[in-house]
Amino acid sequence: MQRILNYIDGEQRPAVGGGEIEVFEPAVGSAYALAPDSDERDLDAAIVAAQRAFPAWSRKSAEQRSEHLLAIAAAIEARLEEFARAESIDTGKPISLARSMDIPRSVRNFRFFATAVLHERSDAHVTDHAALNYTLRRPRGVAGLISPWNLPLYLLSWKIAPALAVGNTAVAKPSEITPMTAHLLADVCRKAGLPPGVLNIVHGLGPKVGAPIASDPRIGTISFTGGTATGRLIAQAAAPHFKKLALEMGGKNATIVFADADFEQAVTESVRAAFANQGQVCLCGSRVLVHESIFDRFVDAFAQRTAALRMGDPLDDATQQGALSSRAHLEKVRGYVALAREEGGRIICGDAPPALPERCRGGWFHPPTVLTGLGPDCRVNQEEIFGPVVTILPFGDDAEAVARANATVYGLSASIWTNDLNRAQRVSEQLDVGTVWVNCWLLRDLRVPFGGMKRSGLGREGGDEALRFFTEPKNVCIRRAD
Ligand code: NAD
Repeated sequence: MQRILNYIDGEQRPAVGGGEIEVFEPAVGSAYALAPDSDERDLDAAIVAAQRAFPAWSRKSAEQRSEHLLAIAAAIEARLEEFARAESIDTGKPISLARSMDIPRSVRNFRFFATAVLHERSDAHVTDHAALNYTLRRPRGVAGLISPWNLPLYLLSWKIAPALAVGNTAVAKPSEITPMTAHLLADVCRKAGLPPGVLNIVHGLGPKVGAPIASDPRIGTISFTGGTATGRLIAQAAAPHFKKLALEMGGKNATIVFADADFEQAVTESVRAAFANQGQVCLCGSRVLVHESIFDRFVDAFAQRTAALRMGDPLDDATQQGALSSRAHLEKVRGYVALAREEGGRIICGDAPPALPERCRGGWFHPPTVLTGLGPDCRVNQEEIFGPVVTILPFGDDAEAVARANATVYGLSASIWTNDLNRAQRVSEQLDVGTVWVNCWLLRDLRVPFGGMKRSGLGREGGDEALRFFTEPKNVCIRRAD
């Protein structure tokens, strides 16, 4: 069994109480590592270390902090294969995806914020002839960073990099389901000479480590990515302390295919948008809305492409669909397919049990599943499944497409497929989401604001928004006395 450790005050150590949590390999269905089952004592040590490190770290020049983050990026890149393998074992995702997306993008997150901070500007306002106002942006202190299991290193680095770049110190809590890459990151930080206490990583369960991060008054800033129900608990716990919050939560994203779209491209990309990482990306398009004039042809092509996705051992380079993150999650996904049947849905593809190699017979796999015949208001079309289950629905005109896309409590993202530029602009404006992709999906530019509307999110991360989120603006007004 591999042993995962906390990273507190520059040291890797077990939980004070000595308890451990089993960490599973989803492709196999058995435990392969043990992670610390931390509690408030470990969290307290992490917060004290972060508070102690804050004055010196925040007084460093942006260039010095940048160099530390660039060193971390280079060290992850040098160990890319090790990280990709660890991520694939930990999450069940195909290693090709971890190698091409998760780990390189984590490296990019560190590089992006390490260099962005060198280009920060502050505002100055001359008030007629009477005064000069200028805005100071100061780091806010100890940041609490809580992340989920689907893109563990990517989402953690997306928070750690901007928080540290502008001079905060941090206490990070990775998901207890996928702690391995955060453990490797701690090793990288220690070897790269990051000063003790600047980043602390406390492993453990949500209620025992995450909840006290949300309620501890010494942590004034919280960046959370995870489910909407957890986000609500965090907001409740943080409210009495008036903490600054960024909440990135669930989604029920629409892929809208208009009749004038490039058909082949729309099919290929909407299948990718539906099933990337087994549908376990918050931005996955799980409701595909298709113009009625091309509906039948589209469903056929979509089902054919889906059936051809290669499911198998995530460690096999050729695998396109891996395992789901946990047994509980597999049960949840199966429950939604059963519910779809009850709600009158038709399973177009995904009914057959997957053929798997011997090693993976006990793993948590679910075939990519395509459903039609479900109304827009049924639970399967309203609730976040976060797995390889997609529904396809027809629409008659643009207004109906927009109404259907907007008709959930979520508002994270959408992708639209059309060759009509006017339609693309008009529809994009009408969608209640934080990101609209036109003729693409998951094309990311780290400079743009990222986040959700409605129950998908509060606040924005990414680019300048993240650097601003982790700083506190202070206006200085100097009166001019002539
Ligand atoms: P989750 O909410 O169960 O857990 C997320 C993190 O919160 C974990 O580290 C968990 O231990 C912690 N946590 C649990 N209870 C807590 C509590 N009471 N207080 C504080 N922290 C607590 O989410 P998950 O199942 O790990 O991830 C899946 C969800 O994440 C999906 O809903 C998905 O849409 C969402 N997600 C959103 C984005 C985005 O950018 N909007 C990105 C990825 C995933």
